[in-house]
Amino acid sequence: MPIDEKFVENLEVVGKTSHADGENKHFIWGKGKSDGSAFSNEQVKAAYEAHGEEQVPLGIHGTTVAVDWDDCTAQGSCMSVCPVQTFQWYRTEKDISAAECLNATFEGTGKTEQDERLDYSDKSMPIREHDCTQCMACQEACPEKAILIEPSYQRNHEEADGTFVKMESGSVNPHAHD
Ligand code: SF4
Repeated sequence: MPIDEKFVENLEVVGKTSHADGENKHFIWGKGKSDGSAFSNEQVKAAYEAHGEEQVPLGIHGTTVAVDWDDCTAQGSCMSVCPVQTFQWYRTEKDISAAECLNATFEGTGKTEQDERLDYSDKSMPIREHDCTQCMACQEACPEKAILIEPSYQRNHEEADGTFVKMESGSVNPHAHD
């Protein structure tokens, strides 16, 4: 099941993953879905079992670079095509459950090559969302259609961050409630 292109309307921010630089972060949108591709993938299911972890809905990580972790089956196509290493295998930095990434801090020292996943319960974390050049290569390469690149969602990121500044004039936001 592909990522919901309207997730900023249909889901809500449930947490964030902070970058240890103290400046950057990406938000996590939940609640997630239990019918994503990861739940029917045998490699992913076996990896969770080996970890002794229950597979639970995880939601979407990132806003302008959004990765649906319930669809991510750790194929790593995004890693191999990204020119700026936006993504890292989160378990290669911290081998914790994916649910524990909610409100965790990461250094960005995880592996960034396609086949460097710890195992198939690993996920592509957009730890350097802020570096994305919007080339769209990852969105096109992902075999699960788990990734959405949507620059206009920068506003949603900033709203969640409390840094959004409303302009006197400019583009109209169809999602605005005020
Ligand atoms: S759109 Fe391009 S630069 Fe941005 S995360 Fe995807 S591959 Fe990397």
